[in-house]
Amino acid sequence: MIDRAAHLRTRDAEREALLPRALVLLVWRGKSPVERTADSNASAIALFPSEEIPDLVQSAEQRVFLGMRGEDPLFAIDLPRGATHELPRGAFADARTAGPTLSPSDFGLLGYARGMMHWHRETRHCGRCGEATSSAQGGFARVCASCERTTYPRTDPAVMILVTRGDRCLLARQPRFPQGMYSALAGFVEPGEDLEGCVIRETHEEVGLAIDRVRYFRSDPWPFPASLMLGFFAEARSEKITLDRDELEEARWFTRDELRSPNGFFYPPAYSLAHHLIGSFLARPGD
Ligand SMILES: [Zn+2]
Repeated sequence: MIDRAAHLRTRDAEREALLPRALVLLVWRGKSPVERTADSNASAIALFPSEEIPDLVQSAEQRVFLGMRGEDPLFAIDLPRGATHELPRGAFADARTAGPTLSPSDFGLLGYARGMMHWHRETRHCGRCGEATSSAQGGFARVCASCERTTYPRTDPAVMILVTRGDRCLLARQPRFPQGMYSALAGFVEPGEDLEGCVIRETHEEVGLAIDRVRYFRSDPWPFPASLMLGFFAEARSEKITLDRDELEEARWFTRDELRSPNGFFYPPAYSLAHHLIGSFLARPGD
């Protein structure tokens, strides 16, 4: 776990003095170094002591203070995209590829660093006056040189909904999904909308179903690029699906037995909130 140590964001001298003994999480084109672990199916983020990679630290286009990992200060740096970079060990991997093999805490860390760098790239100019902005507060703010507007990183809330009906739940396919993969419904929360309202609207828009008993499950950060995914269960009033073909290419009901031994399809791996929604549905007594 990371202690974000937010009090150090505004203490520039104290924070910068930590860099020589810090661990560094490299980011390059949204990817980070990942290395194999003793378990051949698992991998881990490769963090490097800053003294081991002085040239890379020097070449950083952006640096963000992520916090403290135990006694170790942890910084992320964004490397120039136009060049390639030698790593002491491991290889650059993107979060989607590496996600299934990482621990939840490493996946969260990857998303944290990746989301911060994405925000810096997208916020180079002031949203009010259009002038250049620069990083401040250890990378947790950007300040406009002209109008002095300060902006902070944003997270976009999105809902994921597992619609159930008795012994079955509804899973759907977006056209961009890997072949054979089905997942729970999902969509972004709109301005002026509460979470329950969003769950009801998205379910109606995507599959034409009216729902009852909307219940919150849990949330997960989702770093593509900077969302917070909030998981819900809901119960469908009827079975008939009316598909929104602009969003989905297929949606259908799956029984618990089908999901326990998937044949010809699969659902998202354990780093995804959808996996845990489905797992919780399977663990409940049949109804
Ligand atoms: Zn401005």
